[in-house]
Amino acid sequence: MSLLVMKFGGTSVADLSRIGRAASKICREVENGHDVIVIVSAMAGRTNELVGWVQETSPLYDAREYDAVVSAGENITAGLMALTLQEMGVPARSWQGWQVPLKTNSSHSAARIEEIPRDNIDARFAAGMQVAVIAGFQGISPEGRITTLGRGGSDTSAVAFAAAFDAVRCDIYTDVDGVYTADPRICEKARRLDRISFEEMLELASLGAKVLQTRSVELAMRYNVRLRVLSSFEDTDESSGTLVCSEEEIMESRVVSGVAHSRDEAKMTLVSVADRPGIAAAIFGPLAEAGVNVDMIVQNISDEGRTDLTFSCPTDQVARAEKALEAARTRGDIGYGELLADTGVAKVSVVGIGMRSQSGVAARMFAALAEEGVNIKVITTSEIKISVLIDRKYMELAVQALHDAFALEHIG
Ligand code: ADP
Ligand code: ASP
Ligand code: MG
Repeated sequence: MSLLVMKFGGTSVADLSRIGRAASKICREVENGHDVIVIVSAMAGRTNELVGWVQETSPLYDAREYDAVVSAGENITAGLMALTLQEMGVPARSWQGWQVPLKTNSSHSAARIEEIPRDNIDARFAAGMQVAVIAGFQGISPEGRITTLGRGGSDTSAVAFAAAFDAVRCDIYTDVDGVYTADPRICEKARRLDRISFEEMLELASLGAKVLQTRSVELAMRYNVRLRVLSSFEDTDESSGTLVCSEEEIMESRVVSGVAHSRDEAKMTLVSVADRPGIAAAIFGPLAEAGVNVDMIVQNISDEGRTDLTFSCPTDQVARAEKALEAARTRGDIGYGELLADTGVAKVSVVGIGMRSQSGVAARMFAALAEEGVNIKVITTSEIKISVLIDRKYMELAVQALHDAFALEHIG
């Protein structure tokens, strides 16, 4: 019997009628002869509400209790989905992460999956169950506590189950009908891509395209899972949506495949830092220990042994970064004049594997931004992407200008 993994995100299970629509899609796959593992998210908005309650109760919360609370949304959807399927005559049951068990490490709120033993679910399939409905986003630590996989983590649950159970495919049903050349909500010329390579999807996801959690793409790439993104609201068939696949399966070579944006970035500048060996380690060591995800880093030219050092991090980590740096200064590990936090910036990036062999992409990107009068604050590049930090108020304009500059409305 071939096994399929189907994942439904928050908007796709936002109420009972949408759960019903998702269940009909599952029924169709059962009729097509598949056993199905369904991964569900919490109903739309529910996880945000739970996170809000935790923050209100305890601003410097215990991450174990955070996970106990925020994982709860998925439990409700999993039970409701199993009930809906049973009402349709499909043998189904729900599983919370710990019941499988989906084993993770102990990094609460950003746990990594370590193992998914198959025995329990395989035994149920052998006994006639046709659909296993799994609460996404959650697992269990070696200490026996509930963990969560980071925001958007149900995608990662889905791919991990697909890998563990040798699924023929992992279908991610969401509120858009595939992966687009840019977020269709801010760029109306964005086009759906029929296929995108793992490498490009990985960059787009990590640069802010939240349609797939970054870790899910990493796992799909590592275990060669056939990963597809498609609409839960439309009728779909074998050829719907976007297939995320290896580079070799993509015929045309594109210089740029997409534009990604990340809204909540902050630019931190340490003014007048002593320019001496070991200073970067003395600064970024404490930041790492405090759990700050530093992204871009720029060190300016040194003048009389002092330099300015700029880095970016998510806006909600600014307070933590400030605290870590102040503590390092108090200990005498680092010295600086001022610490400036600019929380009004956004990151916009272009991604494409064709960049490896084509020069001039950066020049074209910067020219397009200059034409719109957008000032670039920080630049970083890798083999297949270029990112810039700009004022947040220009973010949408920049995405659209770059989409035009690389003629992305003509691909897909
Ligand atoms: P789900 O709740 O199903 O997991 P998400 O909200 O996490 O859905 O992800 C889907 C959203 O991702 C879309 O509604 C869209 O606004 C956004 N998105 C950002 N970039 C892209 C892109 N390049 N292609 C498609 N969607 C994108
Ligand atoms: N419900 C979780 C979140 O909102 C996980 C997910 O939907 O993927 O982040
Ligand atoms: Mg998501």
